[in-house]
Amino acid sequence: MSANATKVAGVEVSTDHWIGGQRVASNERFSVHSPIDGTHLADVSAGGESEVAAAVDAARTAFPAWAALGPQGRAKLLRRFAEEITKRAEDIAPVETADNGSLLIGNKMAMIPRASHNIAFFAERALELGETIDSEHVTNHVRYEPSGVAALVTPWNAPFMLTTWKVGPALAAGSTIVLKPPEWAPLSCSLLAEISAAAGLPDGVLNVVQGIGEVAGASLVAHPDVARISFTGSTATARAIGHAAAENLTPVSFELGGKSPFIVLGDADLDAAAKTVANQYMGAGQVCLAGTRVIVEASVADELQAKVREALGAMVVGDPREKTTRVGPLIHPDHFTRVEGFVERAKQAGGRPVWGGGRHEAGDLYFQPTLFEGIERDHELFRKEVFGPVLSWHTFSSDEEAIELANDQEYGLAATLFGRDEARAMAVADRVVAGTTWVNCFFIRDLAAPFGGARNSGIGREGGIWSFDFFCDIKNVAVKKDSFA
Ligand code: NAD
Repeated sequence: MSANATKVAGVEVSTDHWIGGQRVASNERFSVHSPIDGTHLADVSAGGESEVAAAVDAARTAFPAWAALGPQGRAKLLRRFAEEITKRAEDIAPVETADNGSLLIGNKMAMIPRASHNIAFFAERALELGETIDSEHVTNHVRYEPSGVAALVTPWNAPFMLTTWKVGPALAAGSTIVLKPPEWAPLSCSLLAEISAAAGLPDGVLNVVQGIGEVAGASLVAHPDVARISFTGSTATARAIGHAAAENLTPVSFELGGKSPFIVLGDADLDAAAKTVANQYMGAGQVCLAGTRVIVEASVADELQAKVREALGAMVVGDPREKTTRVGPLIHPDHFTRVEGFVERAKQAGGRPVWGGGRHEAGDLYFQPTLFEGIERDHELFRKEVFGPVLSWHTFSSDEEAIELANDQEYGLAATLFGRDEARAMAVADRVVAGTTWVNCFFIRDLAAPFGGARNSGIGREGGIWSFDFFCDIKNVAVKKDSFA
């Protein structure tokens, strides 16, 4: 084991940066503890301006050769990268679980396979970029050119999967990368660095600077040699990044928070709807897309709530490494205090918890799945993102009222809707403000489709061509017709 490495769930993980194909240590370090039981996992290098400068420099140096490889050349290496992720899945999954408390089974079955697919999908999609637009006088040859160094900044709730969702298109587009992983769960992204090397990615194509957001992250997004900033995280942090980006006119892509509605029409399959309401507690509610405001037609509200309670009664809260667990811990004591604060204030304001409402006996950071009734629209629980296992329950008597309740928010990330009458369901879905509206399903994110948020939930879209529209410089070569001999 090298000096600055640690064993997490039996897997060796470097606790240093990855810059120009080398491990680089900082004297300053930050501690990482597992939310499962508070175990100290690692002291990780805390980067600052000089580490960021070195990483951006390494990425800038690697850029011309990476860009010159072209989509075909890059696809060869990216396919290997995707395969290497699959090979290391059994290592990545338990490290991610120890680091951020997410379900081990979810990481094994869904998140890590998806991470591999994120790389493979965009490698292939890049081969189809570009088009020709014919007009009367010219032929427009539309090219997707590599744009330079991309800064990627990612959150702790699904760091490995969400990071690869950016790494895949950025690398396929010909960008080189400096990644700043989240300080509350930095370890799986350290594995990503060595996996990229095992796949044969040239030195400097993918760099990782670990550190605190307000230091390493802030320094990265303010760097003048960064050509693109792709950020997933909170709306508040996005505002700070937006200010920094404005100085250099650096284009940004923001995937932010939400307060999504979960609408149940009276004719819905209530069993399916109830099961899906219960699924909003997965990840202990630390899921940006979670439908945290259940908006149900009054005529079926009691019946649906009985079914939701039944589903919640069967939901195991506890150690995320256990196969039967469905709700693990919150990420950090500070976050626990924040979630608890929302719940206490909601009680004081007259909200009634019809399920849960406090700490769970499973451990210090475990919170009961909580469902509130009696939350008024002007209360913060209706308006602000809690990012914990806390939902509120509202009823409506007309579709107009349902839409009005759903749209009464500053966010617009996602919406979920259950209903059997297609015309009615689609009419409501079309009028809800959201980047994604799921009808009779939840959480299915097809990489070919656009994903992102309206209003304060984001800027831009990821997925399919939209990722390349962001990472590439799009150029038109307009050739006068019949002008060549
Ligand atoms: P956060 O905004 O606190 O941190 C996200 C990242 O930004 C971290 O890596 C952090 O170190 C970094 N950061 C913090 N301050 C910075 C600064 N001044 N400059 C540059 N970087 C900085 O978010 P979080 O608590 O890690 O994640 C939870 C939030 O992320 C929630 O709001 C959630 O809804 C959102 N989220 C959104 C999506 C989506 O796809 N829309 C997905 C997952 C999470």
